[in-house]
Amino acid sequence: MHMISVIIPCFNEEEALPVYYEAMTKVMEQMDMAEFELLFVDDGSTDRTLGILKSLNKRDERCRYLSFSRNFGKEAAIYAGLGNAKGDYVAIMDVDLQDPPSLLPKMYEILENEEYDSVATKRSTRTGEPKIRSFLSESFYKFINRISKTEIVNGARDYRLMKRKMVDAVLEMSEYNRFSKGIFQWVGFRTKWLEYENVERAAGETKWSMRKLFLYSLEGITGFSVAPLSLASIAGVLFCLISFLMIVVIVVRTLIWGDPVSGWPSLVCIIFMVGGIQLFCTGIVGQYLSKTYLETKHRPIFILKDSSEDKDGGAL
Ligand code: UDP
Ligand code: MG
Repeated sequence: MHMISVIIPCFNEEEALPVYYEAMTKVMEQMDMAEFELLFVDDGSTDRTLGILKSLNKRDERCRYLSFSRNFGKEAAIYAGLGNAKGDYVAIMDVDLQDPPSLLPKMYEILENEEYDSVATKRSTRTGEPKIRSFLSESFYKFINRISKTEIVNGARDYRLMKRKMVDAVLEMSEYNRFSKGIFQWVGFRTKWLEYENVERAAGETKWSMRKLFLYSLEGITGFSVAPLSLASIAGVLFCLISFLMIVVIVVRTLIWGDPVSGWPSLVCIIFMVGGIQLFCTGIVGQYLSKTYLETKHRPIFILKDSSEDKDGGAL
């Protein structure tokens, strides 16, 4: 019998957890052809999340948990979960039921019967999301897919079921700055995409502010493309060409019409513009440098404070 590990990152999810457990119990009953392990990762919650996880662990031995010493982010939670999952099949699922557990039987069936290594999901619509947020996301995907060789699928969710081989490959990518959407594509393997309509959160509220999303999108760009680094060179060449043309024009104009002193406003504008472009390019270099800096420190991706294994004295 196969074992399916389900990794569930939780950050302040006291309201969603009971609802999720109930929904998941039904799915586990329905899928009696497989064994289950629910691996909850408490990402430094400040509410009763850890308490609920402990009681779930007491009540149902299929529920395990890892608890971080602070909020390390969903990416770190996913990585910790993948590293500790025991199953032959591993799923990643949000706790708010926006990743419907009812899709799991279908995903498992596909991996069992078809030649795929993973089944991933993406949403076909963005209903229930603010317009500006949808617009920014769409623009981000267009931009990153132009400059990155790794395809970042628009609307892709983290909800997926993978075979062990793929999990091990993902674990080999132990980079500090993690962008799962890119990592899962980068490792390759055959992936089948399932589409479903966006579902609203079952309880609680989203943990992603616009600021967090923006920083996350930068993670995607710097993690999977170095194209912005060439921007400085391209802009440099372009400006050399323009200045060469301008010199020719000025020389010819002076020869024909003399040299009246004028044009300082345009000069100031040009100085400002070139200065701006230079700062912008330095900023891009700075972004990559800061990522490299963090990467070379080799800091741990997460720090465990507690886990369901702890009480037996067993190390994880
Ligand atoms: N999450 C997490 N750490 C964070 C933020 C979110 O583990 O710092 C978890 C959260 O508990 C949920 C999942 O990641 O299970 C998705 O978060 P959310 O529903 O807030 O994101 P959205 O669905 O709005 O993209
Ligand atoms: Mg959600």
